[in-house]
Formats: sequence, C-alpha cells, structure tokens
Amino acid sequence: MNIENLKGVGPKLLTILEKININSVESLLEYYPYRYNFINIEDIHNLNDNGYVKGVIIDQANIFYIKKNLNRLSFKAYVNNEIINVAIFNRAFIKNLIVPQKEVILYGKFNKLKKSFMASDIRFDMNINSIEPVYHLTDGLKKSILNKLIDEALKYDISEDFVPSEYNDKYNFISKKDAVKIIHRPTSTKDIKLAELKLIYEELFTFMFKINYLKLTNSKAKGLKRNVDIKEVDEFISRLPFVLTTDQLSTIKIIFEELNSEYRMNRLVLGDVGSGKTIVAIVGMYINYLSGYQSALMAPTEILAAQHYKTLSNLLENYNINIAFLTGKTKKREKEEIYRGLEEGTIDIIIGTHALTTDKVTYHNLGLVITDEQHRFGVNHRLSLQNKGISPDVLYLSATPIPRTYALTIYGDLDISMIKTKPIGRKEVKTILKKESEIKSVLYHMLEELKNNHQIYVVSPLIDNNENQDLKSVNDLKDKFKLAFKNVRIEILHGKLTQSEKDKIMNDFKNGDVKILISTTVIEVGVDVSNATMMVIYNAERFGLATLHQLRGRVGRNELQSYCYLISDYDKERLHVLEDSNDGFYISEKDFELRGAGDLFGVKQSGDMVFKIADLKRDYRILLQAQKDSNEYIINKEYLNNSFYSKIVDDIKFIN
Ligand code: ADP
Ligand code: MG
Repeated sequence: MNIENLKGVGPKLLTILEKININSVESLLEYYPYRYNFINIEDIHNLNDNGYVKGVIIDQANIFYIKKNLNRLSFKAYVNNEIINVAIFNRAFIKNLIVPQKEVILYGKFNKLKKSFMASDIRFDMNINSIEPVYHLTDGLKKSILNKLIDEALKYDISEDFVPSEYNDKYNFISKKDAVKIIHRPTSTKDIKLAELKLIYEELFTFMFKINYLKLTNSKAKGLKRNVDIKEVDEFISRLPFVLTTDQLSTIKIIFEELNSEYRMNRLVLGDVGSGKTIVAIVGMYINYLSGYQSALMAPTEILAAQHYKTLSNLLENYNINIAFLTGKTKKREKEEIYRGLEEGTIDIIIGTHALTTDKVTYHNLGLVITDEQHRFGVNHRLSLQNKGISPDVLYLSATPIPRTYALTIYGDLDISMIKTKPIGRKEVKTILKKESEIKSVLYHMLEELKNNHQIYVVSPLIDNNENQDLKSVNDLKDKFKLAFKNVRIEILHGKLTQSEKDKIMNDFKNGDVKILISTTVIEVGVDVSNATMMVIYNAERFGLATLHQLRGRVGRNELQSYCYLISDYDKERLHVLEDSNDGFYISEKDFELRGAGDLFGVKQSGDMVFKIADLKRDYRILLQAQKDSNEYIINKEYLNNSFYSKIVDDIKFIN
C-alpha cells in the first residue's frame, strides 16, 4: 500500500522515510522498535539511579548558552513535596512549553544533597503508556511524527503472514497482524515476547529458505567436468618452495575432486590470517589450467591484486602459463590487449580487482573464478562473475574466521573448508597489553626493532583528533614519533588519501624505505610485508577482537619473532583474549559472544545481512529451527502452494 495514502505524509516526509527504506505502509509496519522504555514513575526520594518522576512546573525556563551546539535549560518544579531544580541540556527549543502549573514527567538522576535533577528526557503528555516503543530516528523524523504515522498505518491491518500455516500451527504462533500490533503498541511484556517470537521466526524462516534453496540449486548445478591426473598436481606441489600444511593439503584435495566432478564447485576457504590460502588458490588455478580453462583471481584492492600477481608470476615462472594483470588503472592500450587475450584465450590466468567483472571483459572459456577476501564483495558481484558465459567453478577465500554458527547463515549456500593449521616454523605473535602511561617501554622496544632493521606498523582509530579529543590520531602520532625517532622515514596511511598516494606509500613500506607506517585500519587484510615485526595499536578498546586479530596478522609472517602492543586504559578483560590466544576461530567466537554479529567484520554489515528484528547471536536457537523447518518445507515441495515462496524460487532460478 502506498505510503502517501497515510494522513500527514507529504513530499518532504516522503524523502526522509525513503532514506530509512520506508517506501510503503507495509515497510513502515516492519519498522520495528529496537527496544522499549518501561515507564515506572517513582518517588523522587527512592531514586538511586536514572528513573522517572512526576511533578508540576513552578516557574519559567532559564536558558544558558554554553557554546555553539550546547545549551542548558533549567526551571524549578514541585516533585513529591519537594522543590527541586531541573536541568536538561540542548532543549532550548522547548522553552515555551515550560509553563507554571503544568504537569511534567521527567527522566533522569536526582542529586539529593543539591536537590537538583539532571534530566535527559522530559514529557508533557500524562497519558503515556507504561511501555513505550523506541525506534531508530533520523534527521527530520521526530519521535512524535513516527508514532503518529505508525498509529495511522496500524488502522489498515494489512500485514501479510509469511510463516507457512503448518509452522504457525506447529508452534502455536500468534497471527502476524496481532504480532505487528503488539510489537508497536504493547500492553504487557508477555505479549511482547509472543510477538517477537513470531516475527523473529518469520524473518529467519524466510532468510533460511533462500539460503537453503540456493544451496540446493548449487549442489545440483552442473559444471565443467575435468580430467586431470592427480600425479601432475602432486608433482606441482612437490616443487613448491615449502611443505604444505595438512589443512592446505586436505583443502586442495577436495578442490581437486570437485573440479574433476561434473558438479559446479561453490566453495569457501576460511582460513586464519597467514594460514596460506593463496597457495591453495594457486594450486586450484593450476589444476584448472591443466584442463585447458582460464582462471580469474579477483582481489578487493589494487595492492592485494598486485601482490597476488607478483606471487603467481614468481611461482609459475618455469611453467608455460600466461598470466595477466588488470585493474581500473591499467592503461587503455594495455587494457585493450588484455581484453583481446582473454577473449581469444591466449591469457590463462587473469588477476585483478573487480575490473574483471565489467561488461567489456569477455572470456574465452572461464573455468574457475576465485575471489580473495570475499566478504568485501556483495552477493551481486558473486553472481555477475558466475554468470559470464559458461558456469565456472567458484572458490572464495576469506581471512575472517567467523564462527561456524555465523558461517552457517551468511555463507550457508556455500561449502566450507577451514584452514586452521599454520605453516611450520611460524612463530606466534607475542601480544602485550599496555596502558598509555607505560608507552615509554613500548617506544624502547620500537627502537630496538628499528636497530635490527625491522619495520613497524602503528594503528590508530582516527585520522585527525578533532573528532574526539580523547583518542590518538594518525596525525598526532606522526608528530610524536618524528620527535622520538629521528632519521627514520615515517609515513601515514588512511582512507582520505587518493588510491595512488596510498599505493605509493604502501610500496615504499613494502620495499623497506618507510620504517614506520602509521595507519588507520585501512592496511589491507592480506598485505604481506614479512620484514615488519611489530605492530602498536592505539585505543585498542575501540576495535572488535576479530578486527584486532586481523590487524596483528600483518606481522609474524615469517620465522622472526613478532610483537603486537595493544595500548588501552580500558576494557582489559576483553583485550586479554588476544594476549592469551592466537587462534582466529576462538577469538571470533569470543567476539561474537561479547559484541554480537554486527561487529565481526569491523564494520556494520550492509545489504543482505540486515535483519529487521532477528539477532543471529541472541536468536541462534530459533535460527537453527528455522533452518530445519525451511529445509523440510523445500523437500516437501510445500512452497509450490505458496505464492511468496514460489516467487523467491523463481528469482533464484533466474539468477542461476
Ligand atoms: P593468507 O591465508 O593470510 O592469505 P598467505 O597465503 O598470504 O596467507 O600466506 C602467508 C605467507 O605464508 C606467504 O608468504 C606464503 O608464501 C607463506 N606460506 C604459505 N603456506 C606455507 C607453508 N605451508 N609453509 C611455509 N610458508 C607458507
Ligand atoms: Mg590472503
């Protein structure tokens, strides 16, 4: 139903709603509150922490402008037989509402000695519900407006139930319409629970239906059948400059079998940082080459792609394999030449960024597509490469060792191999937690590493510190280290530099000219500078454990002892996990426990993985049930009688 039909929706509000993806009455109704305020009015004398009190205004408001964007409004009120001073920040705009004799509800903290009340919320409507929904708001969308809109929308009673009736019966769920009403306008916590259960299950069932159906389609999808002799592969492996680990070998074995089978490979290799996924990919491409097909290896950035190109060119030097490198920056003439080589089939392996997926690229016979650090590419990219011409086998590499629980969902349509063992001889990174006040000892250690001609990464969460005075920024640190380490080349790297500036600095660091690289988290996952033996991370409490683990994976990439200093005055318990463990899978499990799924990748997930009400960690048991049920629903072919699910199936068939 069109959202313009609702009372009070004009063009201006329409654009605001669009910004938060509300473009129909249905989607407005699915804009669920993210929590509830339980409004329980207390006697001010019993208030020990934040709470609600009720009173009467005595005088008019005083406003004090402290500085730009900061003002303080205050007035006197009569609350539980007591005259108190009320203050609230940044509410100058409600000045005219502060009228003597008027009743108010205040939320905040009471200082009994000073008889002053520091409020963070103030309400004039005495008819408020005791359970108040709290929604995410946005610029221009006030709480009161959103609440009115939702009240309007609820009159229409149009929510469609996507839980198939057999599961509604099985679990005795309340109806979708009731659930939606309750979730927005609850009257008891018991009702909220019932409504949440229904809506969470619905969301997870729908999600797992898609994943399960994709998996089914993929597992049956016919691909290229190859006939490669395992002996040739073994020989290739024996000529490598190092001995492969057991996990590398078993992953290669399964890739070999899948490439030789008639089904399409659709596999994710999950490996801790430094576990050696690249070589697994290279063996895969070699197998593909032996069977006469082209391979494409795609990396999310120029730097990573260039590094892969170099590694491959070295390793395959003595083979008659034609390798090319293509990014958005490749010169036009060279590009044309590469396009031709790909189309005619003279290029065997192409390495690059997502320039490889543009429409201009036509492959002669693309047999294998590999994407490194796959979570950076959305599902759409995954599909666009898959669909070029014939249906190639697909391999994804990811250094984000996500917990199995999470992998089951986000990558539930893929088969997964895990590489847990690290190459032999690799020393574990020693991780040491230090307070800011102990920084001197860290500086001494840095000096020692520099004397040994090693290089150092320094990481900070900010570029400049005008955003937040308490944090160290990249620019601060540069000044600081310039003083501490004279005659040493120090450079900074962050997202505001142009790509070519970044590439230049990264290259200078790679070839050893730059000794200390101070950076935000932009240092690429996967960048390999083996002479870097130390990393110092400032304000470590600002990062997720998985992110910190990824970052420290930049050091310790050879047999030298490497160190990672976490500088932080807070959050000791969480950061200790990193001191104690070097196991990315264990750490990500802990991170999941402590911070939930949203932060696993260091950034909020977007696109596919945004749930309206479900939370993968909190609702894990419901997820498992939904996975089982939706699978059963697919196997029974019940979905054929349901227009919503048949449509999903048609969409999936279309993209495959
Ligand atoms: P990641 O899994 O993080 O992508 P890489 O594939 O970049 O790791 O490998 C990290 C480093 O370890 C590379 O320098 C690579 O040459 C080396 N390496 C990979 N496998 C082995 C092995 N089995 N033995 C010794 N070194 C290895
Ligand atoms: Mg890698």
